[in-house]
Amino acid sequence: VLALAATLALTACGQDSEGGGKATPKGGKGSTIGIAMPTKSSERWIADGNNMAQQFRALGYKTDLQYGEDSVDQQVAQVENMITKGVDALVIAAIDGRALGDVLKQAADQHIKVISYDRLILGSPNVDYYASFDNEKVGVLQGTYIVDKLGLKSGKQGPFNIELFAGSPDDNNTRYFFQGALKTLQPYIDKKQLVVRSGQTRLNQVTTLRWDGATAQKRMDDLLTKAYSTEHVDAVLSPYDGISIGILSALRSGGYGTSAKPYPVVTGQDAEVASVKSIIAGDQSQTVYKDTRALAKQAVQMADAVLTGKTPQVNDTKTYDNEKKVVPAFLLNPVSVDKSNYQATLVDSGYIKASDLK
Ligand code: BGC
Repeated sequence: VLALAATLALTACGQDSEGGGKATPKGGKGSTIGIAMPTKSSERWIADGNNMAQQFRALGYKTDLQYGEDSVDQQVAQVENMITKGVDALVIAAIDGRALGDVLKQAADQHIKVISYDRLILGSPNVDYYASFDNEKVGVLQGTYIVDKLGLKSGKQGPFNIELFAGSPDDNNTRYFFQGALKTLQPYIDKKQLVVRSGQTRLNQVTTLRWDGATAQKRMDDLLTKAYSTEHVDAVLSPYDGISIGILSALRSGGYGTSAKPYPVVTGQDAEVASVKSIIAGDQSQTVYKDTRALAKQAVQMADAVLTGKTPQVNDTKTYDNEKKVVPAFLLNPVSVDKSNYQATLVDSGYIKASDLK
């Protein structure tokens, strides 16, 4: 009995390290979860943070929710501070996927389990689980929407002019979204049924640092001036609603949005209220809905499992290699939304209130 008690005491202090001190997670019910979110400048992250905090508290955990306001240094400092204050687990949506290696080493040394939220943390072995959506599918949905809307699948030949935008280069999701979209678009680009007049087709030519709408607006302005003085843009691949809003402003300034010069097909992501309104008004064409309530629930279940000695549920153990390990993941399903189904998918599901769309 004494020996057993001694073992338990050691385990409870997290002392029984097995090669690198990762054997025993801290805590249990009643412990504190550090939640590091990237920015409040986009609705989704506000919802993600609040949903998680609420669900953790409902299970009896305490939470420390921080936003990095898109500053990498600030986020690193916030996570460091959470570790110093002794959180028992971390849930992190990274601003720069590669900036957290050193702090996560500190977390591992303290036996703090780490869940990578929505965006995969790269280059660190100290990432335990990943909760996200099928990120390549997000891109496939955007690319497919463009191909369908232009009528390319139903026999139209084009050629149609398209421009490509991608997300922040330091966000691991960016390349998955772009690859997914290009999977669908590339065959038509190869056949010259889709033409990128700017010639900017490589990922490193089309990224948008920190997903910033104003940066995208400026790039679209430049594209219109340089490549479209006599040509019409028929489609714009946009990875995120905030970027779509910027693109649409540039198009509006360029005289688009009239019956003589209609807006191109413009995609998006996140089903943010401003963009859903724009879709209803017929400006933005599409967005990709990712139910952040479900993602929060998944991350909360993962953290609760690791803190109570259970194994979190995962459904993908192959895709997300962060260069140090393949991180076991639970991936949710993204859904394409346009004018025809926003009511059923967003409003009827309670994701957005009908009154917010007035
Ligand atoms: C998320 C998207 C979001 C983007 C900008 C990505 O990592 O997966 O949902 O639109 O960041 O915040």
